[in-house]
Amino acid sequence: MINSNIRNHFKALKSGKVYLDTAATSLTPDTVINKMAEYYNEYPSNVHRGNYAWGDVATEEYEGVRDKVRDWCNAHNYEVVFTSGATFSSNLIYYNLPNLGIKKSIISLNDHHANIVPYRLHNSNVEQIPIPDNGVFNEEELFKFGSLDAHILHISGVFNATGQILDIEKITHTAKELGGLVALDMSQHMSHDTLDADKINADFYYWSSHKHYGPTGTGILLIKKSIAEHMKPLIGGGAQVSNVTDNKTEFWGIPLKLEAGTPNIAGVIGTGASIDFMQKIGMDVIHAHTQNLLGIIIKELRERKIPIICDELPLEQRGGLVSFTIPGQHSYDVSVALGLRDIYVRSGKLCAHPVVNKLSDNGFIRVSVGINNNEVDIARFFDALDQVLING
Ligand code: PMP
Repeated sequence: MINSNIRNHFKALKSGKVYLDTAATSLTPDTVINKMAEYYNEYPSNVHRGNYAWGDVATEEYEGVRDKVRDWCNAHNYEVVFTSGATFSSNLIYYNLPNLGIKKSIISLNDHHANIVPYRLHNSNVEQIPIPDNGVFNEEELFKFGSLDAHILHISGVFNATGQILDIEKITHTAKELGGLVALDMSQHMSHDTLDADKINADFYYWSSHKHYGPTGTGILLIKKSIAEHMKPLIGGGAQVSNVTDNKTEFWGIPLKLEAGTPNIAGVIGTGASIDFMQKIGMDVIHAHTQNLLGIIIKELRERKIPIICDELPLEQRGGLVSFTIPGQHSYDVSVALGLRDIYVRSGKLCAHPVVNKLSDNGFIRVSVGINNNEVDIARFFDALDQVLING
């Protein structure tokens, strides 16, 4: 059971708002904010540079987060690279496909734009898995091509629009047997579920810290050690280089080679604090709490006969969110009317235009839950929704 004191860690909740948009960005607990303030107040220096005490502490704190991530995700076979977020990580992977001997990517049109737009930008060769009529993605579609030699499967562990959880262990295992690489976008997974990176054995995992109670502008990219040496930087500058002459550049190894320029030091240190925060509560406790709330929301929506996106998905295949539509009403109008009643949900096309356009003419209304939510929030949400349905 989650302790109700947890809510006291989120100062934003003192406003009285009901925040049901964790899938867009989670609220930030005071322990994360305090840890970042500690960096700015007590050892505000650059990392890997200053030969003085502040610099040493900053570097130690920053580098220590790599081990924290490794332990959290059982990622001992992986290099931990800090990026600006999931979008950058996805682009970095696409940029590197030729260096990894990859000739074709397989993606799903159910997915977030971060996994669709980059291949178009980088002109990669791609096979797009179409969206089924009911929106429920069939994992078997990924394997209809037979051999995956020189292919990469690039897909989310949880789709941000439909909330469907994919069986990443099975997908990765099958793709590997067929000779392909696997890149998993874990952005919608990390706030409420554990990741055993070594066991699942994908080649890449990535996500943004702000999805799991960490700061914005920071992301984690895990790269399998056996392929890391083939990765080239997408941007160039200081800190990634061991030697620069008039016409030659030598790079450090991974991860520094991929972290050009001054990194988001406070963001990385805050990411470490967000991992501590979740681990202190317990990932299993967080998972049980969010699933319980989600179950209540789905039950209440069904009682009101509100059309749920991918309603056939069982609760255990839903990752922290549910989307729905209100027939005859635009999702935007509903979310604005809810917002005026202090209920904050997401609406529209959710950075996943293909799937939202396929399943609705009016966008989705998406409710997503976190450890900052409780049953009172859900009751207030439905009170407000009932008023909106009656009064608009
Ligand atoms: N992938 C998924 C599945 C997401 O939900 C999001 C955020 N909506 C992203 C990628 C992009 O994350 P960011 O904007 O932090 O780079």
